[in-house]
Amino acid sequence: MWFLLFIVAVAALAGLHFWWRARFNTLQGQRVAEIETSQRRQQQTAVDAKAQQQVLFNSMLEGLLLLDRTQKIYLANRSFKNLFGLKVELRGKTILEALRLHELDDLVKRVQVEGQVFDYEVKLPDLSERWLQVNAAVINNSAGEREGTILVFHDLTRLKQLERQREEFVANVSHELRTPLSLIKGYTETLLDGARNDPAVAERFLKIIERNTQRLDLLIQDLLTISALESGRMKLELQPVNLHALTEKILGDLHTKAENRNVVLMNEVPELTANGDVNRLDQVIANLVDNAIKYGRVEGHVTVGGKQLEDGRLEMFVRDDGPGIPPEAIDRVFERFYRVDKARSRDQGGTGLGLSIVKHIVQAHGGEVWVESDPGKGATFFFTLPAA
Ligand code: ADP
Repeated sequence: MWFLLFIVAVAALAGLHFWWRARFNTLQGQRVAEIETSQRRQQQTAVDAKAQQQVLFNSMLEGLLLLDRTQKIYLANRSFKNLFGLKVELRGKTILEALRLHELDDLVKRVQVEGQVFDYEVKLPDLSERWLQVNAAVINNSAGEREGTILVFHDLTRLKQLERQREEFVANVSHELRTPLSLIKGYTETLLDGARNDPAVAERFLKIIERNTQRLDLLIQDLLTISALESGRMKLELQPVNLHALTEKILGDLHTKAENRNVVLMNEVPELTANGDVNRLDQVIANLVDNAIKYGRVEGHVTVGGKQLEDGRLEMFVRDDGPGIPPEAIDRVFERFYRVDKARSRDQGGTGLGLSIVKHIVQAHGGEVWVESDPGKGATFFFTLPAA
């Protein structure tokens, strides 16, 4: 009996043991699976976060550089690589190894001491004269220990170019204004000092004063036109413009000026109708013909012509048979205040702004303007316009 009870007890215990093990294994299995799922989820979240971070960094317009605590590159975004024209892997390199820029290396050292440096400007030693603005700061963890350094690069090149253009423009305008003003001032003083008592001298001086006043007036008018064109304040009043008739009217206006230099003016423009602002197109053709008379040869010929291009646009030209434009000046004559021969331009009452105004007006019509010249044989200015 006792033996039977013993056998039953052992069997029950063994059963309990196996049931418990099976249950334990199942629980253990579930637990392991749960841990694995959670780990996988965490890994996926980390991968997603890293991918998002990468997309964010690479979509930044600013160049971004992260250095680790040993000041080696940990991350460089796409804009940074584009700014420096780098295609190689930068991770693990120092700034000097990657960029060979001592100024940036100095900046990183400075940031370690000062904690942050803002608005640091660096000029890249390449030929295109590029400027960068760098903001840099150290990164500390929650325990206050240094984790690395972050540098953000902003391309300042365009801003610097605009700044330089503005400075040049102001300097040029001041210079252009000063020349006639000082002549007016000088001759007025001489007249007041007694020259007015000699009628012949007085008349000569007054004519000089009058000429320079006109020059100032022209200059201010041209400056106002340029400013309106550049700021986009000047709105074109588009309408069908008969280019033959417009040329005829302009050649009539400039007839006396041409006669003074014995220049023959010819209108070879066929019946073409442009879609343009008649007053502005008048200014374009008049400026080009006026230049052709001024800078062409005495007893020369100035021809205005045009044709319809295959793509439907109209192409006009103004040709003279004067000394032409030297090759080095061809690309520059449309710049504000650029003159091939300064003294000649001033003698002729030029402001140095005529071709710049021409270019702006043609471009505002969606056209292009250029010049071709065979030095010694003349210059031909071309421009395109949309047809009506
Ligand atoms: P400007 O007021 O001096 O005439 P523009 O902008 O009209 O200014 O012209 C710029 C310069 O281009 C002139 O000073 C002149 O040196 C040159 N230029 C313009 N047209 C001609 C031309 N037909 N032949 C030779 N040189 C020209």
